[in-house]
Amino acid sequence: MPRISVEDLSKHYGDTVALDDVSFTIPEGEFVVLLGPSGAGKSTLLRLLNGLATPTEGSIYIGDEQVTGKRSDIGMVFQMHYLVETMSAYRNALTGALSRTGFLESVTTSYDESDKLAALEALDTVGLLNEARQRAGSMSGGQQQRVGIARALVQNPALLLADEPVASLDPKAAEEVMRYMKSAAAERDLTTIASLHQVSLAREFGERYIGLRDGRVVFDGTRDDLTMDIVDDIYYDDAEEELGGVLA
Ligand code: ADP
Repeated sequence: MPRISVEDLSKHYGDTVALDDVSFTIPEGEFVVLLGPSGAGKSTLLRLLNGLATPTEGSIYIGDEQVTGKRSDIGMVFQMHYLVETMSAYRNALTGALSRTGFLESVTTSYDESDKLAALEALDTVGLLNEARQRAGSMSGGQQQRVGIARALVQNPALLLADEPVASLDPKAAEEVMRYMKSAAAERDLTTIASLHQVSLAREFGERYIGLRDGRVVFDGTRDDLTMDIVDDIYYDDAEEELGGVLA
C-alpha cells in the first residue's frame, strides 16, 4: 500500500475557507483519526482525498500518483450506509466490485468468482458471514454499517476513508463497528482515515490523530500526545470563553 501525501492543500467555497494550507503524510497501514468541531473541514478533507472535490490549491498523492478525480481504489464509508435495503448483505457487499468493473459491465455481465469470494471474505472480516443472506433492511444499524465497510473492502482499496462512520449509532454499536473497522484495516494493512465525533472512541481506536480547526491542522500526533488539554484546544470555542467572561 502506498503512502499518502497531502501538500499545501486549500479548499475555498466562495469566501469560505474550508481548508487552509493543510499538509501531512501518512505511511502505509496507519489508522488515522480526524478530530475537530463541526465546520472544521473534516468532510472537505475526506472529499478531496476521495477525488470528489477539487482543491483550490495544493495536491494529494497516493504513492507517486496525484489524485485528480474520483478513483476506484479509494473505499469510502459514510455516516449513512446507502445500502440497497431489499438486497442481501452479500449482494450489497458485492456492489463494491462495481467501482472496478464499471456499472454498465455489472448490468450486462455477472460478477466473476473472485468478486464473489471477495464479498464473502469481506463479510467474514466484519463478522457477518453467517448473515450474508439476510436482507440489509432487516439488519441493525451497526450491522448495516459493517456491510458498508465490507462493500468498501470489496473494492480492494489502497485507502479507506470514513466520514463520521458511527455518528448515528448507539455507543455499543459504535464501538463494535469501530472494532471491526480497525481489525479489517490491520488485517489488510490498509491505510485508513476516519473522522470521529466521539473523543472517547477516537482515543480507543486511533493510532495517530490529526486535529482540524477552522480548516487548519492544529494537532498531529499519537494517542499519548492527545491529552485532554489538547482535545480542549481542538474543540474549545474562544467565543465561548469570551462569553463566559462576560457572563461570569
Ligand atoms: P466538518 O466536516 O468538519 O463539519 P466541513 O468540511 O463540512 O466541516 O465544512 C468546512 C467549512 O466549509 C464549513 O464552513 C462549511 O460550511 C463549508 N462548506 C463545506 N462544504 C461546502 C459547500 N459545498 N459549499 C459551501 N461551503 C461548504
